[in-house]
Amino acid sequence: MELNADIQYLKGVGARRAAQLAKLGIRTLRDLLTFYPRTYEDWRRILPIAQAPNDTTVCIRAMVGSPCREHRIRKGMTLYKTEITDGESLLEVTFFNSKYAAEKLEQGKEYLFFGRITGKGYYRSLNSPEYVPVEQAGDGLRPIYPQTEGLNSRAIEKLVRQGFAVCGEVQDPLPEEIRTAYCLMPLRTAWETIHFPPGEDLLSEARRRLIFEELFLLELGLLRLKSKARRSTGVVLTRDETAAFQSLLPFTLTGAQQRAIADCTADMMRPVPMNRLLQGDVGSGKTAVAAALIYNCACNGFQSALMAPTEVLAMQHFKTFSALFADAPVRSALLTGATPAAEKKRIKAALAAGTLDFVVGTHALIQKDVQFASLALAVTDEQHRFGVHQRGLLSAKGDSPHTLVMSATPIPRTLALIIYGDLDLSILDEMPRGRQPVATYLIDSDKRERAYGYVKKHLIEGRQGYIVCPLVEEGEEGDTLAAAQEVYASLAEGFFRGFRVGLLHGKMKSAEKKDVMERFAAGEVQLLVATTVIEVGIDVPNAVIMVIENAERFGLSQLHQLRGRIGRGSEKSTCILISDHSDTERLQIMTETGDGFRIADADLKLRGPGDFFGARQHGLPALKVANMMTDGAVIRETYAAAEALLKKDPALADAQYAPLRQAVNAMFSAQLAMN
Ligand code: ADP
Ligand code: MG
Repeated sequence: MELNADIQYLKGVGARRAAQLAKLGIRTLRDLLTFYPRTYEDWRRILPIAQAPNDTTVCIRAMVGSPCREHRIRKGMTLYKTEITDGESLLEVTFFNSKYAAEKLEQGKEYLFFGRITGKGYYRSLNSPEYVPVEQAGDGLRPIYPQTEGLNSRAIEKLVRQGFAVCGEVQDPLPEEIRTAYCLMPLRTAWETIHFPPGEDLLSEARRRLIFEELFLLELGLLRLKSKARRSTGVVLTRDETAAFQSLLPFTLTGAQQRAIADCTADMMRPVPMNRLLQGDVGSGKTAVAAALIYNCACNGFQSALMAPTEVLAMQHFKTFSALFADAPVRSALLTGATPAAEKKRIKAALAAGTLDFVVGTHALIQKDVQFASLALAVTDEQHRFGVHQRGLLSAKGDSPHTLVMSATPIPRTLALIIYGDLDLSILDEMPRGRQPVATYLIDSDKRERAYGYVKKHLIEGRQGYIVCPLVEEGEEGDTLAAAQEVYASLAEGFFRGFRVGLLHGKMKSAEKKDVMERFAAGEVQLLVATTVIEVGIDVPNAVIMVIENAERFGLSQLHQLRGRIGRGSEKSTCILISDHSDTERLQIMTETGDGFRIADADLKLRGPGDFFGARQHGLPALKVANMMTDGAVIRETYAAAEALLKKDPALADAQYAPLRQAVNAMFSAQLAMN
């Protein structure tokens, strides 16, 4: 049977079983064989009955001493009991409602039992154990699979065994030379070992082989996405106009900003494309760094582009840049999905003709028909919101332009290596002067009125504020969560009557979004009721107070981003988290620190790496076995291997690499489809 064949071709898999398997993501034979066990039962440590402790899973070797008895204890609940002995002690075995499991045990025969014991003395009982006849037990670890309704671990195990019996030869994507060099077992052996490990050592070897393969494919794919930019020379700037740029700003650049600009400018004056990550906590002033580079490009007669993940943020950037460049030789435009067709056409023509120096926009920038006359710089803001492929597409608009990605999400070095390869890093580790930490409080909803009163006091003093809700409208998800529309309606007519209250959420038309954003930025709207659309980038320094409803619904890093919307001026700012959730320990962290790194660290510990490093956070294909946190050593190993191989054969064109090339494409195809 072909590895890519539908699972229904497997004997005993009908439509119903196939549907259950699909719930676990298993559709093909390959899916089944790569559906790895969650953990293992250890059948090797056999304990005498007398020494087997209660309430923990134990393995006992014993003979069935009595035929099975039936006890009906109440309607719908029947116990099946039998006795087993290991020659020294007796133990009762109880099966709940499972006549079949009980009756299969033969009196006088010896089995290995695996389960939990409860009860005391005479009443001790081994409950619903797994068992195998001694002669079939082998000496290994037994796989435990993630289960779904109607499909237990044993049923999956049976299917996996059957899968191996019919699957024939398994083509190994790892070429012989790599396997030899890194001592990796063949793929089929690794699969068999991870499902049915003869022992711990081989199991960890099998795991290492699968982790290696996964990371190797990932890195090959990422390196190939990038290789185009790496091969050719970038656009070389000759004039550094940073000093002139500084005079456009209403403030002095921080030391960190100046260093970052100098790093980037030096990169851009060399004939190798810049590939740099600008990392800086929320509010550290990344936009000004990008602006300096954009200005420099324009002064050198080249174009630049800045891509933002949301329309609201793109609009705001455009406003910032338009004001900043009002008297500068930088002709700018805004291009988003909502730009009117005629305007779009005009902008695209101007970009292609070179009569625009700078464009800021959303995904609209990476559409096929957007072309540049001389793109020298591609900036991606809030890079973690984009897939790796999307970032590549913006750079592909030019002849190997310089690229800068900006992010507030701290990212471990090993992961940065995977995503960007040999990227350079600039860190803004200094906040603009005069910033005060945002005082953060956690309250329950009983105190909401008081919090609102405090907001009102600020509005009266001429300040602005936000109220953030987890939902757009009621009924989206249960009815206990605050929804922006309803909160807006009730506050505008209620508590904040007489104040100018605005509403902003992702489902609004873009003209409406733009209108309310502009009025908020101009100070016309005093209080903005919003969803997380304001999470990235929004910058209104006069807004100094924020209330976050149902704070428990947000991740810590997300709360940090949200809170970053205030505390942007020299004024003292306050963030009030409202939550009635019983587990507030997590939220408490927000009241204790304003340090994005510490918060990300706590988030990582609480949510686990799967969530943190998943596609949602960094746009990477999903990984099955590898763990970005703990497999750092393999990451470095595979990175070196991938680089060396691509140096030798950049397109993986050699016939021996065909399976490898296919596997890389398969891994990334899901991702490409996503974008
Ligand atoms: P982020 O790094 O989160 O993108 P922004 O670029 O939006 O931060 O900057 C946050 C705010 O700080 C903006 O209002 C910006 O004008 C201001 N700002 C940036 N750099 C400085 C500086 N050197 N001095 C004073 N204010 C600054
Ligand atoms: Mg920003």
